[in-house]
Amino acid sequence: MAIRRVLKYGEKSLREPSKEVHKVSKKITDLVRDLLDTMYAQNGVGLAAPQIGENVRVFVIDVATNNEPLNPIVFINPKIIKKSGAVKSNEGCLSFPEAYTDVKRYKNIMVKALNEHGKPFVMEAKDGSLLARAIQHENDHLDGILFIDHCINRFETEEILKKHNLPNLNPDLLIDEKELEEEIANND
Ligand code: ZN
Repeated sequence: MAIRRVLKYGEKSLREPSKEVHKVSKKITDLVRDLLDTMYAQNGVGLAAPQIGENVRVFVIDVATNNEPLNPIVFINPKIIKKSGAVKSNEGCLSFPEAYTDVKRYKNIMVKALNEHGKPFVMEAKDGSLLARAIQHENDHLDGILFIDHCINRFETEEILKKHNLPNLNPDLLIDEKELEEEIANND
């Protein structure tokens, strides 16, 4: 289909909530193709529709490594239905070129969603795996939440953003995650 432009942190769509998909129409399957084409072109692990300026509840993930065959997973109207444990995760985002920082994530999650054929599925991702972290990261995009809102060290993250000429953190948007914080501190 098409490689689309990935919006950069600071652009409006990234902070806007996305709408539910009512029907997995051709418009949606075309969007899924564009998301996959764009994600692969950028060597990303995941990409959410708002990142290409479409505020609908769709994201794609592929955690296969370079020597493994492609393994795209499509999530439409996803919902995280279980979460437990905590891990520190060093993350980046295609909307934040070259900027990485440590964030708090749940270690284990269970998600339900529709696939690209509109068929419901449930997926479990455990042990702080890349898949578990990527699902949380992409799912957040659908609510206008960005990985920096989960950062472990606010001041370090501000420095990283500055270094990459990206807009500042918005302190009002930082997510209060005391429980995750404590568990991560105990693990360290
Ligand atoms: Zn992202």
